[in-house]
Formats: sequence, C-alpha cells, structure tokens
Amino acid sequence: MSISIVSRSAWGAQPWKGVPAHVPLSRRTEFFIHYHGGEPPHSTGVRVPREIERIHRQQGWAGVGYSFIVDQAGTIYEGRGWTGQGAHCPGHNVSGLGVQIAIGGDQKPSDKALAAARALYDEACKKTGRTLAKRGHKDGIATLCPGGPLYAWVKAGMPAPVDNTPAPTKPAPTPVKPAPKVVVDLSNIVAAAKRDPGLRQGGTTHAADVQIVEAALRAEGLLPAAYASDGSFGSITVAAYSRWQQKLGYTGAAANGIPGLASLKKLGAKRGFSVKA
Ligand SMILES: [Zn+2]
Repeated sequence: MSISIVSRSAWGAQPWKGVPAHVPLSRRTEFFIHYHGGEPPHSTGVRVPREIERIHRQQGWAGVGYSFIVDQAGTIYEGRGWTGQGAHCPGHNVSGLGVQIAIGGDQKPSDKALAAARALYDEACKKTGRTLAKRGHKDGIATLCPGGPLYAWVKAGMPAPVDNTPAPTKPAPTPVKPAPKVVVDLSNIVAAAKRDPGLRQGGTTHAADVQIVEAALRAEGLLPAAYASDGSFGSITVAAYSRWQQKLGYTGAAANGIPGLASLKKLGAKRGFSVKA
C-alpha cells in the first residue's frame, strides 16, 4: 500500500506553540498505537486532527501530540511527523512514534484504518532501517489505551486486513486521482474574503479554510509564497483569486476575487479539496 499523508497545512493545523524538538530517525525504536479514549466526536475528515489539536493545546502542549492520526476512512494526518518529539507516552516520546486511530469506547477500527496504520508501520521500519517494536500505549504506561480491539490487533502483530471483496471480472478503470477528503466551507471563505482585506495586515476570519485555498492558489502559481499560508484572505489573496476566476474565463464582477461556488469547486477538484456550500 502506498502511503499518502495529509500535511499539517492541508488539514489546517494552527502554528506550533513552541516547535517540538527534532528527533533523528536513528533514535526511533518503537511504534505505539493509541485510541481516543471516549468515543471521538468525529471519525473521519479534517475535524479529527483539528479536535485532537484543540484538546492537546488545551493541555498546554505545542499542538497534536501524536506523530500521526488515522481516521476511519484510512486517511493519515500529519501530527509531529517522523522527526518531531511526541507527546503521547511519557518516557517513550523520543524512542517511540505514536499513531492514534480515531475510535474510542467500544468502537471497532475499520479495515481501512488498520491498513493505513500498518502501512505507516512498514514505512517507519523502512525509514529507520530497523524492525520497530509494536506496542499499544498500555505497554508503555498504565492506561486503557488503545482499547480492546486495537490492543488485540497490536498483539497479533498488526496484520494488514484481508481484503474480502471479490476480484472484479474485468479490470476496474484506474481512477484519475483519489476523491478529495479535505473540505472547505464556502461561506467561511466568502466571509474571510469580504472581511480580511479591511483588517490590519494578516488579520484572519477563518484561517483554517483560507489556508487550504491559499495553498491551492500558490500551487496554481497565482499567489506569492510569502502570502501562501498566513490564513488571511487579504487584498493580495483577493487579487490572486481574481486571477483564478479570469483563468476560468470570468470577467468583470464575476472575476472580483470573491470566491463563488463554481470557481472554488474547480480549484478544489484540481488541488485536492471539496467544497461545502
Ligand atoms: Zn494512548
């Protein structure tokens, strides 16, 4: 399974409150699995890492404490990443990578989540050049985490789930690209595009949504890098969006730099996000 990770900027992470210490891959020897504890409010999408970020920041941490988070759709979100010191298991945050799967209580992990977590483990072994010890959080400290089903899976050796779907009789067409999983709220973007230009330089209204659109405009070559992740839909971002509208053939008021549903959807289709109208 190839591994694809949604970056912190793509899921709308807030800046670190103190950048986590760097840990070289040579010091990683263990791989920990976690769950949410109680049932999480969200089990798929960018709301999963955002909620964990909110909780961990409330605890006074720099941001998400896990190395990675895996949702029930099997999407992997970047937390501290491969080389950031974790905040997930005291005494093991340097030696151990920590991966949280977005379930809690009696919930069972989906096959997609297990496949993604296993792919992360394999990638970690490849990157470090060694076989990392497979652990549940409770192997490091007294806790219920990662719950019964995940702990049993860890103890069984983290097997990749067996794919039970019958083989298709003729080969399925190759999808052009995976369905976008990052969601941008149109009303948030419009509100930011109308309000941010009037704020002091860098003022933000809906920074997380705006950062996703900024990254897309940057990728289109329409927005200078210096403005590409500030989360502020200021006059320079409005001008960049206007250039996107013009690229699509809009003119006049239809290319005024305030995003509309059609143009934003086209940007998302090209740059990997979907739009909630
Ligand atoms: Zn845990």
